[in-house]
Amino acid sequence: MAHFRTTARGFLLLALFGLLAGTAAAKSADPIPWRAAKMAKPKNSGKQMVFPVLGRTQLTNSFGDPRGQGAHQGEDIMAPRKAPAIATEAGRVRFYTGSGRAGCMLYLYGDSGTKYLYIHLNNDLTMENDNRGDCVQGVAFAKGLKDGQRVLAGQPVGFVGDSGDADGISPHLHFEMHPGGGAAIAPYPHLRAAKRLLFYASRGTIFTLAMTGKVVSAGDEQLRVNVATLRGSPMGITLRNLGRGLTITVPVGALVERARQGGAVVPVSLANAKPGESVALWTEATLATSDAQAGKAGALIAERVLLPPA
Ligand SMILES: [Zn+2]
Repeated sequence: MAHFRTTARGFLLLALFGLLAGTAAAKSADPIPWRAAKMAKPKNSGKQMVFPVLGRTQLTNSFGDPRGQGAHQGEDIMAPRKAPAIATEAGRVRFYTGSGRAGCMLYLYGDSGTKYLYIHLNNDLTMENDNRGDCVQGVAFAKGLKDGQRVLAGQPVGFVGDSGDADGISPHLHFEMHPGGGAAIAPYPHLRAAKRLLFYASRGTIFTLAMTGKVVSAGDEQLRVNVATLRGSPMGITLRNLGRGLTITVPVGALVERARQGGAVVPVSLANAKPGESVALWTEATLATSDAQAGKAGALIAERVLLPPA
């Protein structure tokens, strides 16, 4: 973990490039040969990783980039402040709070033998960069998580932030992968291939989701939504600016309503939903499954759909 420093200027350039290039550029062939070479490293385990941050993120593919103290040893995953950081595989967590540069961080000793570093976790008490929080559970680490605890893949371990030498830079998770506990490898290809969870709930949890977004299409007991905001109970998660397309089942018995000017609502058919208009919906209380957590079509069932005044 010697060389993870993010310089402000380097980061700003990356962010600017990311904004200009968007995600499409990341999908195309990388024009820089040494980057292609570093991406060709073998997979560290046969199992698919879980992407370590919930919600909207942006990858930088910055492993090996020159930084203040040498080559960048990980990947910077850009995310909103306090976005949930989750376990990329099952294993054991170890808190580490003694590094000025890493700030609040943790190790995840994965069952596959790979060691993961989660660096620059949150140290703010508000949604501003106040630096008033300590490296403790509920601020940097997930609520209720104990140092040395075993976690399951997808289980929240902390919150994305800007502690250490990321202070004042856009919040991001500096994520490192060390197969067998040895030298760092480029996380980028593994992250690109990782399973993206919509949310996480412990096994056996009855959960509900409240979402807002825009209608993409509607019909045949299915509503396609571009989800902007997601709130999960009882997990207590809120994800904003999600920008994720989901197919929600809307059974015949679900309550589909359209608001009227003045506050009244009237029942309508699902076919009444128009592409592009905003929508709020609530899912049935149901047992958390891996399909639901992955946001798969058919796994999320709406209990109520609310459309805006026509
Ligand atoms: Zn970094």
